[in-house]
Amino acid sequence: MEKLIINAAITGARNLRDIAPYIPYTPEEIVQSSIECWRAGAAVVHIHVRDPESGLGAQDPELFRQVVEPLREQTDVIVNLTTSGIAGRNLPNEDRLKSLELKPDMASFDAGSINLGGGVFINPPDFLDLAASEMKRLNVKPEIEVFDSGMITTALAMRKKGQLEDPMYFQFVLGTPSGAVATPQSLLHLTELIPDGSIWSVTGMGKAHLPMSMLALAMGGHIRLGMEDNLYYERGVLAKTNAQFVERIVRISREYGREIASPEEAGKILGLSKEGRK
Ligand code: ZN
Repeated sequence: MEKLIINAAITGARNLRDIAPYIPYTPEEIVQSSIECWRAGAAVVHIHVRDPESGLGAQDPELFRQVVEPLREQTDVIVNLTTSGIAGRNLPNEDRLKSLELKPDMASFDAGSINLGGGVFINPPDFLDLAASEMKRLNVKPEIEVFDSGMITTALAMRKKGQLEDPMYFQFVLGTPSGAVATPQSLLHLTELIPDGSIWSVTGMGKAHLPMSMLALAMGGHIRLGMEDNLYYERGVLAKTNAQFVERIVRISREYGREIASPEEAGKILGLSKEGRK
């Protein structure tokens, strides 16, 4: 079976320290946690940035730069930047995409809108058109985030028009309050809708994290984990670091007989061009 790509979603932009006391806020903390995950076996880090004081989500290219540059200097990890914008604020499309100028290897491409976190996570067609063309221009691989099956329909229509290219990389985000449920049937259904030769990964929110990870392990998919999606290492016990999640999946996967992909190996599986990688 293909080696397992572990994608660590370090902080997200939703959970604040009142419920997540160990979550990284500052660029330095995000870098530190990313390096720990990379050392533990994560090939990809999925990065949001936050206002260092309030912890609220930010989309400031300068904050992204303070994360990307040290990671480029100190690691060979695949850098995946969010383009999600700021919850509750309808940022101009261009502002959501400014961080692409930092030439990350990948960036999130949320292929539709959905109710999320008490508001609407807005990804209208004009944003998707611009995001696809900017990612192509800057040689950034879209991580097609899928919260429900309609987002696959959208991505496939854009593939038909040449806006998204093979091999497509899908990230199934299951178990959000208004999205596809985190069950084996739901995951199976989504994997049946994507083109042959696509690469897929899954994350389950909260307590769905481990069940979805185990399915991905057995089905040949890949795994996203980390405090963006899940705060608890086990029932009632907060994780103190993101690396704890990585270390557990590495142990289980090796016992299962599936090796872990290095960043270089993951880059080949994902079809990342050499140019973007160091
Ligand atoms: Zn994210």
